[in-house]
Amino acid sequence: MTFTLAIVGRPNVGKSTLFNRLVGKKLALVDDQPGVTRDLREGEGRLADLRFTVIDSAGLEEATDDSLQGRMRRLTERAVEMADVCLFMIDARAGVLPADQVFADILRKKNANVILAANKGEGRAADNTILEAYALGLGEPIRISAEHGEGMGELMDVLRPIS
Ligand code: GDP
Ligand code: MG
Repeated sequence: MTFTLAIVGRPNVGKSTLFNRLVGKKLALVDDQPGVTRDLREGEGRLADLRFTVIDSAGLEEATDDSLQGRMRRLTERAVEMADVCLFMIDARAGVLPADQVFADILRKKNANVILAANKGEGRAADNTILEAYALGLGEPIRISAEHGEGMGELMDVLRPIS
């Protein structure tokens, strides 16, 4: 049996970078500038022997006005409905921001099966965020670096029981 993993979180935390790593192709655009990827993208993910469908939720990066929150909510809710498990990504360098709290609330309300991942976790700068992340009440955060491929073993360990 396989499963569907949706990567959710605010713009610029590194969702598409992880998507590309899992899918192994540049299906999702990654850019330093917000505003490149849109909506939901689906690919075939693999992590060692695990095979699964992975969804990259983008499409938030365009909004600069007060519609951002509504769009985040709709898109995230759709991703949650499509997925067996959500990888909720925060930016370990930025810390836990108010926008992250909004996502945490959506995921809690939808009763989503959540894996909390603190990305950009390479180096010591991430240590504080790991502690802050516990306060989101979504379980133990996994420290990863989508760019450098760190934490993929831990991610595999939490995904394996779902497969
Ligand atoms: P998205 O908006 O959540 O899809 O984020 P992107 O995947 O487009 O990444 C946003 C920025 O973060 C890009 O400049 C990435 O290169 C950078 N980034 C992604 N993962 C990491 C990481 O593990 N470490 C660091 N330092 N930067 C990262
Ligand atoms: Mg993206």
